[in-house]
Amino acid sequence: MALARGYAATDASKPLQPFTFERREPREDDVVISIKYSGICHSDIHQARNEWGNSMFPMVPGHEIAGIVTAVGDKVTKFKVGDRVGVGCFVDSCTTCASRDLDLEHYMPGLVVTYNGMEADGKTPAQGGYSDHIVVKEGYVLSIPEHLPFEATAPLLCAGITLYSPLRKWGAGPGKKVAILGMGGLGHMGVKLGHAMGADVTVLSQSLSKKEDGLKLGADHYYATSDAETFKTLAGTFDLILCTVSAEIDWNAYLGLLKVDGTLVLLGVPEKPVPVHAFSLIPGRRSIAGSMIGSIKETQEMLDFCGEHNIVSEIELIRMDQVNEAYERVIKSDVRYRFVIDMATL
Ligand code: NAP
Ligand code: ZN
Repeated sequence: MALARGYAATDASKPLQPFTFERREPREDDVVISIKYSGICHSDIHQARNEWGNSMFPMVPGHEIAGIVTAVGDKVTKFKVGDRVGVGCFVDSCTTCASRDLDLEHYMPGLVVTYNGMEADGKTPAQGGYSDHIVVKEGYVLSIPEHLPFEATAPLLCAGITLYSPLRKWGAGPGKKVAILGMGGLGHMGVKLGHAMGADVTVLSQSLSKKEDGLKLGADHYYATSDAETFKTLAGTFDLILCTVSAEIDWNAYLGLLKVDGTLVLLGVPEKPVPVHAFSLIPGRRSIAGSMIGSIKETQEMLDFCGEHNIVSEIELIRMDQVNEAYERVIKSDVRYRFVIDMATL
């Protein structure tokens, strides 16, 4: 066992604080990673504050991890000491069913999440990326393209793949009109990725305050959802709407923006059930769907795509001791567009 230092939530109502815990010794198929940067996802906040009702404390959040390999087990073939690597939202999964072959392992029971769950042994609490190092099976470690600015790649491991996967699944590309609902950590990655795939991208934001940024990042159009006119102007426009909002919104109004056969995909996790009227779906044969991160294979594909297109996240680099302040700012939508913790400041 090796001691790890990090920051943890000790219960749902307390700020995160310094915390020391044990990481396993590397096994033959493990990679030891010195964590250099850790992104702050809104899911970290939901879980640190037990907003999903399943939190286990003490909890070291963080599933947008970028680091350097410092040791590898004897049977590791894909990585060597010094490699730039990433770890996302899960660190193990069921390998006995067909899910792995279908690259859908993240949807199968037996998924081992990076934190707020148990490791594969079923008894060691899994702890995440707000820490100095992590030990991960090589099959769950990703390669980060060498030429991308390292600190800005950390958010690709969750925000990036969470938008990349539904954009690919629902065929975003030339001739497709895609709306990104919410211009936050996930949303701004959707703008960059959708644009790089060749889709016509519209941002639907609460206000026009981030319009200039949105257009610079690749959006073709930008509308404020606080303006009732937006819903008249854009009625029946989109093939795909990716919703990154976790608040209660008028779902029926957004479904009205879809074309015939259009799909609204939920990515954000609202606290309450989503009320949808059948007539918001039936006349346009519209669908409502959900999507969660992506498989390891698809995550590597996304990182390679980002390498080819020079895509990284827009970040604000912070010190570890600024994490609680950063949480408050994320909640107020006051982030341009992802906080990343510089782990050298731990
Ligand atoms: P974020 O940075 O806080 O972005 C969310 C955006 O939603 C905000 O920037 C804001 O955009 C908009 N918004 C906030 N409050 C709103 C309100 N009351 N009404 C309408 N819009 C509002 O969060 P994030 O890290 O992108 O995560 C977003 C959600 O996705 C969270 O619920 C997170 O848990 C979830 N998530 C899901 C997955 C998955 O696999 N499905 C993965 C990661 C995260 P504007 O200022 O532009 O309006
Ligand atoms: Zn996340």
